[in-house]
Amino acid sequence: MNATASRVLVLNSGSSSVKYQLLDMADRSRLAVGLVERIGEETSRLVHGSPAGGGKREQLGPIADHAEALKAVAAELAADGLGLDSPELAAVGHRVVHGGTRFTEPTLVDDEVLAEIGKLVPLAPLHNPANITGIRVALSLRPDIPQVAVFDTAFHATIPDHAARYAIDAETAAKYSVRRYGFHGTSHAYVSRAAAALLGKAPQEVNVIVLHLGNGASASAVRGGVCVDTSMGLTPLEGLVMGTRSGDLDPAVIFHLARVGGLSVDEIDSLLNKRSGLLGMCGDNDMREVLRRAGEGDEAARTAFATYTYRLRKYIGAYTAALGRVDAVVFTAGVGENSAEVREAAVDGLDALGLVLDPEANSVRSPEPRIVSADRARVAVAVIPTDEELEIAEQSYALVTR
Ligand code: AMP
Repeated sequence: MNATASRVLVLNSGSSSVKYQLLDMADRSRLAVGLVERIGEETSRLVHGSPAGGGKREQLGPIADHAEALKAVAAELAADGLGLDSPELAAVGHRVVHGGTRFTEPTLVDDEVLAEIGKLVPLAPLHNPANITGIRVALSLRPDIPQVAVFDTAFHATIPDHAARYAIDAETAAKYSVRRYGFHGTSHAYVSRAAAALLGKAPQEVNVIVLHLGNGASASAVRGGVCVDTSMGLTPLEGLVMGTRSGDLDPAVIFHLARVGGLSVDEIDSLLNKRSGLLGMCGDNDMREVLRRAGEGDEAARTAFATYTYRLRKYIGAYTAALGRVDAVVFTAGVGENSAEVREAAVDGLDALGLVLDPEANSVRSPEPRIVSADRARVAVAVIPTDEELEIAEQSYALVTR
């Protein structure tokens, strides 16, 4: 690697999209940010922006596959003088959703690692194949540059057995790798560290509950910088109510739907992952729409909001018990960062746990990390914008420069 190389390209390859950012780790600046969506359709769209290129450009028209998408991204970067052939490029950091129990650290990708990520496909059938494709295409474009896999599950690898195990037959669980893995780990890692910084303490000194509330949503309990529990499980389906996922439910609901409703496994999978949560309950998965309708008195939207926020209160209570002492409850991601209403309802009535909001601070909109609890509150409530790309870039850069 070029000794002065300080750029990291972060790639987040989904089944039909690629999100990317080019960061300069010398000053953590963002050199380019973009997205290719609807890959494989006639209506693919590439949006690319960089200060060097003077703003945003959009490209519409069919992009057949991930290889074509990444080539188009490479061309956009090159047009702004940020080409992938630059000696400045130190690494490509890839978000990989499932690392199983094998990958608990950022990992330099080689053939063996790719094969191991492939073996985890049954645990993340929608995500890992797309992640692998992204890595392969990036490798073909720059085989000489280190490709680093950063796993969504990795931060949760420290969860103790009593929180990670499901109470089922041990042999069956082991045979099929059934346990809690947790997801959104890059975000939980970044936000829990940022929370300590906001409190003016070292990560080792604070216990934090992180609520990552985006379209997917998860909670984690972090003791002294180490994750001890999280709400997503074997897959991202468990835990909080999400945009389209149910979160926790009695597993017997599945047997009931199969036996009495005659639904197939795939139909139930799709129901619980894609047509449940806020969308299933009221027909909208965007919290802004749910709030607007609830404000107009729409009963289904009100019930969806109440179910969503009640689940949050339950998890705050559970993780307070898990941690014993809590220094901060932190809200992040699209809903957590932007919705004062959700934050208010999530801590409503939890004064006994030390949670009291400052309504004025809570209503302020800002891109900055901030505390929104009352001065007298025993537990700080904070809003911290997540930055998964920066975290992936940091972890990737640390690996290739150490
Ligand atoms: P993310 O997955 O982190 O990008 O979050 C996406 C979600 O954030 C969307 O589904 C919206 O429901 C939610 N969101 C974005 N802005 C707001 C807002 N101002 N109020 C409530 N929810 C919001």
